[in-house]
Amino acid sequence: MYIKGDFHIHSSESDGALKPGEIVLLAKERNIDIISLTDHNTVKGNKQAIVVGNIHGVKVIPGIELSTRYHRNQVHILG
Ligand SMILES: [Zn+2]
Repeated sequence: MYIKGDFHIHSSESDGALKPGEIVLLAKERNIDIISLTDHNTVKGNKQAIVVGNIHGVKVIPGIELSTRYHRNQVHILG
């Protein structure tokens, strides 16, 4: 069972500061045991996050944040 999670995280593959693997290590340090990497319009960081997560015992759910529009409003959808 997972205790603590964060399911909306951006890495340096979009507008975040840390590389995907660094995010996993930070999650481990903060006792977060399940995360989802949700970079803007890319899944490029998911593979690295999953590999590092498997080594360090942090479950990584592959994710994305899609930018789109609904009528004239900008909408971001987490997947
Ligand atoms: Zn976001």
